[in-house]
Amino acid sequence: MKTAGVAELTGPRPPRRLALIGGVVVTCDSSGTTATAVGIADGHVCAVGDATAVRAALGPDHVDVDLGGRTAVPGLIDAHNHMVATAESFAALDARGIRSIAELTRALDRVAERTRPGQWIRGFGLNWARLAENRLPTRTDLDRITVAHPVVLVHVSGHYVLVNSRALGERGIGDDVADPPGGNVERDATGRPTGILRDAATNLVLQQSVDIGRHGPNFHMAVPVEDLVALLAEANRRYLAAGLTTICDPQVTRRELEAYREARQRGVVDLRVVAMPLSHQLDELLTVGLVGPFGDDHLRIGALKIYTDGAITGGTAVFSEPLGRDRNQRGILYHAPEELAALVRRAHEAGWQLGIHTMGDRAMGIMLDAVEAAMRARPRPDVRHRIEHCTWPTEGQLGRIATLGMIPVTQPGSITELGDIWLDQLGDRIHRAMPFRAACELGIRPVISSDAFVQSYRPLDTIAAAVRRLTPSGVRVGPEHELTVEEALRAHTFDAARALAMDDRLGSIEMGKLADLVVLDGDLGSTAPERLRSLDVWMTIVDGRIVYRRDRGATSDLRAHRTV
Ligand SMILES: [Zn+2]
Repeated sequence: MKTAGVAELTGPRPPRRLALIGGVVVTCDSSGTTATAVGIADGHVCAVGDATAVRAALGPDHVDVDLGGRTAVPGLIDAHNHMVATAESFAALDARGIRSIAELTRALDRVAERTRPGQWIRGFGLNWARLAENRLPTRTDLDRITVAHPVVLVHVSGHYVLVNSRALGERGIGDDVADPPGGNVERDATGRPTGILRDAATNLVLQQSVDIGRHGPNFHMAVPVEDLVALLAEANRRYLAAGLTTICDPQVTRRELEAYREARQRGVVDLRVVAMPLSHQLDELLTVGLVGPFGDDHLRIGALKIYTDGAITGGTAVFSEPLGRDRNQRGILYHAPEELAALVRRAHEAGWQLGIHTMGDRAMGIMLDAVEAAMRARPRPDVRHRIEHCTWPTEGQLGRIATLGMIPVTQPGSITELGDIWLDQLGDRIHRAMPFRAACELGIRPVISSDAFVQSYRPLDTIAAAVRRLTPSGVRVGPEHELTVEEALRAHTFDAARALAMDDRLGSIEMGKLADLVVLDGDLGSTAPERLRSLDVWMTIVDGRIVYRRDRGATSDLRAHRTV
């Protein structure tokens, strides 16, 4: 045995057998074991224990990596992360920090100046609640900057877009446009579209890229696959440096699948990717006999994504008591209840695991009715249907979720990033958003995830948000539902693997499992909750290969030797 230098670990022949020693290993296995060393051989965990036991298991031909007291945890699994869209947001107008229409027009002006006339200008993350001007932005604001370019700015929730007149014109959308089912067009006092399109109305402008009908908010912009692959390579670097080893993209059309396939082909993505096809493709998928899970441990098709309602941030989630300060926002259902029930049943009976976007309690009831009916018609043990967001289940609905064995795939980062807007929308109801403790007491294991690009993709931000449920202005939200660090870590590893039906090989550091591990640059156990977000990742391992080292970055030579 020997202790390796950087060059040996990342050079042309990275070691196949590694002993990670001298650390704190949090295994996230069912008995909550901790250890000080892990052995890795040929991409799998082959020993967990102390240095002596691990070295003995590996034999003489291995390389030691001294963790220096750092904490090793299972590779972090983001069960709801729009990786392609997040990657696109890196190169688009980043509207996340914009707080006024004046600031928005200045930022847009800079982009318009360097964009060829006629080319689309895209932006992500615009949050139009609480803008300094105290009104919604309109297409007229954008038109003042440019009508030479079509402009589409995706709202921070991903559920709405703001477009300029050129974008509406290019798609032939006139003043007489009707609200499509599952969406609405914001209008001024004269009935003229203001440029804000909500939920399924986003498809009016974006269907030219991918037509998803009324099956979800459309943010699938026309971008050449070459560009998407380059952006995915960048996202891969950033995600590995943040400690992610697996992501599940919860809204995949042919555009995303093509990008992921091409990226895989070229070896530019080390992360494992699980793709959830959007329900507008169900007929085609069934025609060719394709049902998830399908694929391998690096790129696979998982559950089918279905939408019930809109989003809380912009007032389109469906609650029994409407949203907004004036309680006048009744929300939007993508499908009428009987249509949702038919869609759920058809996919369930075909063998799909489902991931159903549902935020409000009224939408939750409609969704649970549909799933119960499908399960009654054809019971499927351990089917693990997921509820994406699962933001506001009532006490009674939690009981139904437990009985159905459904898995809430939540995003506590919404509280830390959008919580003040949620306070406006929900009032006191916010304290029962993502009721983790109540869920756990019923035996439900909620998963935590990022929903990037909506929130930060950094798993430590998500874990910190589950542990400290604080809004940006510091309001503590439902403290009884705060998770411990151990619970939050498990919700981002083992429980996430369970939601992906990959818990037999991912999600914990156990003998025989795939060797996906992350070493945090510190002692997780003694890190105060308010310091969790500043904990860095020191090393990321996927398939037993070191794919990121803090002192080196995720360099291209690592990827070049992926097959060694
Ligand atoms: Zn999402």
